[in-house]
Amino acid sequence: MNTIDGHVHSPFCPHGTDAPMEDYVKAAERKGIDVLVFTEHAPLPAGFSDPVPGQDSAMRPEDVGPYVAECARLREQYAGRVDVRCGFEVDYIEGFEKETLEFLQQHPEAARNSILSVHFVRLPGGWFCVDYSADELERKAEEAGLETIYRAYGDAILKAAGRPFGELNPPVLGHINLIHKFRERIAPKEDPVDWMNILKTASASGLRLDFNHAGLRKPDYGKTYPEEWMIGEARKLGLTLQTGSDAHSPEDVGRGFEKE
Ligand SMILES: [Zn+2]
Ligand SMILES: [Zn+2]
Repeated sequence: MNTIDGHVHSPFCPHGTDAPMEDYVKAAERKGIDVLVFTEHAPLPAGFSDPVPGQDSAMRPEDVGPYVAECARLREQYAGRVDVRCGFEVDYIEGFEKETLEFLQQHPEAARNSILSVHFVRLPGGWFCVDYSADELERKAEEAGLETIYRAYGDAILKAAGRPFGELNPPVLGHINLIHKFRERIAPKEDPVDWMNILKTASASGLRLDFNHAGLRKPDYGKTYPEEWMIGEARKLGLTLQTGSDAHSPEDVGRGFEKE
């Protein structure tokens, strides 16, 4: 069976590590991973201001060329050993669909290897990054209400599950329940998100799910995204899950997969 790590970052990620991309490929080869998909955070759309303090959520537009070139070089160099593919982790940001589609149109090949994720939600007070930190989520919850934040995330991921970019839509939906990242520390009394509807919509759209193992490394969560009951329902709906480490350093490539 083919082992895939379909969600891997690179030194072009400003909040990641500086290790060269080749080190990720070497790690994959060492761990017996056949397919390694680089999915760097695509540049945020023009006009969207990154709400996190360091404004370091995504790669710079001028780095896209060198990133794609290095993917291609590694793909050639490791042919027959590791199947290296080039994609992006693209943000679904409500109201910026046109700009996002333009990016996908410029990179149609990479679009096929990409993941569509939601990290940013629009709240009455402005944009908010849901997975930045537990402290920020607590602060924002006092201001906007945690249920409101959950609902905004649920609405956005539902739209992303509806394949908003048609033919060029990334085929994989990223860490669908990322909003749960700090759940052990802060959680609403009742989860207001209709997860079944999201799963059904993703299934009807023909998307795969990012079976994201980064959650196992998060102290306030400790599970995969999606979590177990969602995996069960996803399988019943015929959804395919694609393993991903969300590695931001080479040693995290394939991490946690062996327990599956
Ligand atoms: Zn990242
Ligand atoms: Zn992500």
